[in-house]
Amino acid sequence: ATMPPLLAAIANAGRHGVLVKSAVVMERLGTTTKVAFDKTGTLTRGTPEVAEVRVLEPALSREELLRLAAAAERPSEHPLAAAVVRAAEREELSLPPVDDFSALPGRGVTAKVAGHRVDIGAAPAEFEVQPGCTPVLVRRDGEPVGLLAITDQPRPEAAEAVAATRALTSDPVLLTGDTAAGAGRLAEHVGITDVRAGLLPDHKLDEVEGMRSSGHRVAFVGDGINDAPAMATAHAGIAMGGAASDLTLQTADAIIVRDDLNAIPAVIELSRRARRVVT
Ligand code: ADP
Ligand code: MG
Repeated sequence: ATMPPLLAAIANAGRHGVLVKSAVVMERLGTTTKVAFDKTGTLTRGTPEVAEVRVLEPALSREELLRLAAAAERPSEHPLAAAVVRAAEREELSLPPVDDFSALPGRGVTAKVAGHRVDIGAAPAEFEVQPGCTPVLVRRDGEPVGLLAITDQPRPEAAEAVAATRALTSDPVLLTGDTAAGAGRLAEHVGITDVRAGLLPDHKLDEVEGMRSSGHRVAFVGDGINDAPAMATAHAGIAMGGAASDLTLQTADAIIVRDDLNAIPAVIELSRRARRVVT
């Protein structure tokens, strides 16, 4: 017997590096009219670097600031946290132990370091850093004590994949927890003009729901724990497999196992071809 077209398409998607979890998903992918992308770890490589460490509290040295920030970030799984820890390691700073750590998805982290409450997360708009960098504010006992500028390179194939996606669907959209300033340059580089910034995880979900209720069939592509709600709401949730969290991999309908965004237009096309055979 010949393989049913949707199963053959699943096998083909596998060859493109995408694990499609069911025939229903394989069929649905072809009906996508809009693709929404997460930024960090999805359109970017997700291996950010600290480009600047700026002290805002004169009593604190640059090393002390970096040590405080890296200690608080060490338990976090967020790519920005990993960048801060790497920066401290490069300078061979010893990190004090932390208490009472918690990650606030889409916001940052909070922890107790050497008797101080340290909060790290998105900086308000008045804290400007160089273009293309994400501004991260470090607070100690509620007071801003430092500003980190973090850069993350776009994936090399991102612009090409976004263009191919646009040709198959409609204008793609960027949904990010980063600031508009931090996201703008990347958006321009990859060719996305519809940028919705400063979104908490639930706001990403709201955006997906909004597009769905205006008639779109939305595929959402993300990698973080913060992306799981939006992924679950989308008509197809796609996870970047490389560094995605377990929850994200479980929630997703399809997983890009080889880190290549071109897999997205590829599976949409495979689905459409299979549907033409089926119907
Ligand atoms: P994205 O939507 O681009 O993947 P996230 O929702 O994960 O980004 O994070 C949104 C913003 O929250 C980041 O740009 C950063 O400002 C802040 N943030 C989240 N987690 C952390 C963290 N561990 N350390 C510093 N900042 C963080
Ligand atoms: Mg992300």
